[in-house]
Amino acid sequence: MTVTDTVHGSTETPAPWTASAALRQADPLVADLLAAERERRADSLQLLAGENLTSPAVLAALGGPLIDKYAEGYPGHRHHTGCAPADTVELLAVDRARALFGAPHANVQPRSATSAMLAAYAALLRPGDAVLSMSLQHGGHLSCGSRANFSGRWFDFVGYGVRAGDELVDLDQVRDLARTHRPKAIIAGGISHPRHLDWAAFREIADEVGAYLIASAAQTIGLVAAGAAPSPVPYADVTVAATHKLLRGPRGGLLLCTAELADRIDRAVFPFTQGGAAMNEVAGKAVALLEAGTPQYASYIGRAVAGARALAGALAAGGARPLTGGTDTHLVTVDISGFGLSGAEAERRCAGAGLMLGKCALPFDPAPPSEASGIRLGTGTVAAQGMGETELAEVGTLIAQVLDSGTDARIRGRVQALARAFAGHR
Ligand SMILES: *Cc1c(COP(=O)(O)O)cnc(C)c1O
Repeated sequence: MTVTDTVHGSTETPAPWTASAALRQADPLVADLLAAERERRADSLQLLAGENLTSPAVLAALGGPLIDKYAEGYPGHRHHTGCAPADTVELLAVDRARALFGAPHANVQPRSATSAMLAAYAALLRPGDAVLSMSLQHGGHLSCGSRANFSGRWFDFVGYGVRAGDELVDLDQVRDLARTHRPKAIIAGGISHPRHLDWAAFREIADEVGAYLIASAAQTIGLVAAGAAPSPVPYADVTVAATHKLLRGPRGGLLLCTAELADRIDRAVFPFTQGGAAMNEVAGKAVALLEAGTPQYASYIGRAVAGARALAGALAAGGARPLTGGTDTHLVTVDISGFGLSGAEAERRCAGAGLMLGKCALPFDPAPPSEASGIRLGTGTVAAQGMGETELAEVGTLIAQVLDSGTDARIRGRVQALARAFAGHR
């Protein structure tokens, strides 16, 4: 019997059962839209910095039976019955996070990096407290002080930035602002700064003014997992991470913290800012954290970083200006004002060629954020597809050509050929 023989509402489990067949039968419209998304990707290169390909094993965990389980609370202290496998899965995810990052404590329940950030604030701060963070224009995330976000509404944010000359974080400014404003917390990290941060220097400044140090590491945590970036964990009181970016796990957040803050962080996640955790996501995080400790993952990260360097080099050779002159990470942020285009125009033009990247406000950007003078790219997805330095150097050249003189059939053809040649790695 196949799924097509079953009647809606039947309690019989059809066999063989496939999720996609069930969806097509129940809701052809959504099934078609998912097919359209697959098709969109098949012909284009995904270079958006926050995206990745969820690992197949993680996808299986996400679609597994824990999706149905209610498990409010923490292992051993649940508000629901029948939590034995769920408890073990969560303990496994927590243990793997602690081992992978050398963290005294981990919380794997946040539904996103922004909710993890909300929990970190809830654990450490009171409304109205001063917080020193990378300003949004210089690369801070909206959860670090945007007026449109709870952070900017409930806390008193002061922003630091990068130096105009070398575009590296201005630690002298961080120290001066910390001494002047005596923040309760200092946040280091962001969404578009392509260089490693000096965690020890941030710790020293935080200690000098008696502030907590929060690492905003959603973009970089995968590099840390692979030993490809200095870890904030030994320095930060709380590290806020995402599991769906370089870690290739489920869409979600992760908190790492000191032993002293463990209880406060846990209570800030549940019951303060969330109800029951998504246990299928917790299972997916356990799988992603296991995979992130493998040699295959380390070589994936190596390819992502080497690819980003090749991409930045090719963009520079083609007339663009990578911020800070290059990258240490999977991120490349590029000043494209030399082409006489705004970031928004560049994003549209590249999308027309199948090159999916994002406009990005630059430090000291004269243009409004909706237009911006830069673009931001990440190599997470294309490296997961198997691309490396050779392909990304070509991608950089193609992007520079599109920015310079628009797209044509040859460029579109090369993008399609690359996308199809590496599609099999999904
Ligand atoms: C992506 C990102 C976030 C937000 O992640 P969500 O899961 O979408 O909430 C927060 N901070 C930084 C630094 C990020 O890179």
